[in-house]
Amino acid sequence: MRNPLKRITAIFIVVAILPIGFILHELNTLSENEKIVKEIYQNQLDAILYSINQYSDDVINSWANRFNIALIEEKYSGDSTRQITSVLNQIVAVQHIYFNDLNGASIVYNAEGIKAPDAQIRLDNVVKQNRDRIDRLITYKRAGFRKMELMDTINTDRPVPVFFVLDSGSTTYRLGAMVIDLPVFIESTLGPKMQAIAQDKFIITAFRTDTDSLIFSTVSADETAALPANDQSQKKSFWLLPGYYVSIALPGATINDLVRERMITSLVILGLLIAILGLGIWFLYKNIRREMYLAQAKSEFVSNVSHEIRTPLSLISMYAETLEMNRVSEEKKKEYHTVIAKEAARLSGIVNRILNFSQIQANKKQYESKPIQLNDLVDEVLKSYFFHLKDKGFTCKLDKDETLEMIRGDRESIAEAFINLIDNAMKYSRDKKNILIATGRDGKFNFIEVKDEGIGILKKHQEEIFDQFYRAPTGDVHDTKGSGLGLTLVRKTMDAHRGKVKVDSIPGRGSTFRLYFPIKKDIAP
Ligand code: ADP
Repeated sequence: MRNPLKRITAIFIVVAILPIGFILHELNTLSENEKIVKEIYQNQLDAILYSINQYSDDVINSWANRFNIALIEEKYSGDSTRQITSVLNQIVAVQHIYFNDLNGASIVYNAEGIKAPDAQIRLDNVVKQNRDRIDRLITYKRAGFRKMELMDTINTDRPVPVFFVLDSGSTTYRLGAMVIDLPVFIESTLGPKMQAIAQDKFIITAFRTDTDSLIFSTVSADETAALPANDQSQKKSFWLLPGYYVSIALPGATINDLVRERMITSLVILGLLIAILGLGIWFLYKNIRREMYLAQAKSEFVSNVSHEIRTPLSLISMYAETLEMNRVSEEKKKEYHTVIAKEAARLSGIVNRILNFSQIQANKKQYESKPIQLNDLVDEVLKSYFFHLKDKGFTCKLDKDETLEMIRGDRESIAEAFINLIDNAMKYSRDKKNILIATGRDGKFNFIEVKDEGIGILKKHQEEIFDQFYRAPTGDVHDTKGSGLGLTLVRKTMDAHRGKVKVDSIPGRGSTFRLYFPIKKDIAP
């Protein structure tokens, strides 16, 4: 018994370790996974910000092309400002357009085609101070790539010039600069693009870097104000527009919120999984242990019963053989016959008990449903048990509730259950041979109670003692003969009567068993 149990325990531990270990490992890597999720989110948002920057770059580049073309057309049409002012009129974000031939001649227009000498002086200065950078732009252009560059000290309150190299040969001018009003550019040019990207999935906002004041948002000002400040981590400066940045957030929740939510859900699911798995394994283990115990108890039962049968059988055969020899006096013959009859009766008693049990076990037992006064039944049983109890040195007190109502049930099986309890009270009492029998009412039940001052039952065994073949392994219990079937029968009988059996016991102090019978309830036929 011990070894197979140990083996099963070991198998269970191994079986449990694998999934639980896996789940614990998952739990461990959870924060790692969540970090990856967070990174994925951030990369996605990053990509969106990148695309907005790329778009602004493309747009300004295309404007530079348009000015370049207008300049070429103007050269051929001879009209000094018309083409250029028409482009300027279409692009509201560009306040002035500036051209320079890099030999000292330059010109500036606004949308009305009017020259702006202040702006011209300022931009001429910028060109002078940044000759190196302009030369670099020319080199890029020769290599076939037009680079746009902002070349002024950054001043967010003033429109900024973005310089670009013109197509050579087509005009006397070599260099152009668009003087862009940044807030207007962000709102009128980038705004629609940001709106198209954001849809309902994101909130994209543009801010001024120095003051953190809002320039544009894809949602209303209220919703923007409600955005959590810590989500500003998702932000990028505009490549061509220093002094401004664009930021992106998820509506309703920050990335941290989302990740935390996911993590909590994952933790709860994993926790539940561990609990269910643990419970399942525990139940399985308990059941297997019980089955193994039962298997062993059954084999003990067979040897117990064989032993019980062998004693009367050998007595019968011994006396029968002696009688057969015909050498005994008439008086002895009579005595031997009595012994044979008594032992045969004992034998049939044992066999009947086993048959009865197997009948109940197979739910084939038929119960009567007749009115019974429990007090009468108790009196009757005790009358026939009185001498037996006295003979074994027991004192038996009786405390009847004379007001008990009748119940309905099967007299014989109730008496049998009651006798089983008295038998046990006797079997499991040691020095204090006192038994108290009582009847009474408890709520909707009448009860019979058998109380002893015997060895008692440990709390942990108080449920198992009703299992078939179960015998509590307390103290010297195995010195007491038994099959472990008595209480199983008692419980079956009580179930059939829609009643119950309860035990209350303190090891070393004694046990109280109570049989509860429902009042005014017919039992199943
Ligand atoms: P058996 O008495 O034949 O072993 P039962 O089914 O009647 O089988 O009882 C099961 C077990 O419950 C017993 O083996 C014993 O350990 C415990 N038990 C039953 N009645 C008592 C009692 N009155 N006092 C102490 N232990 C008891």
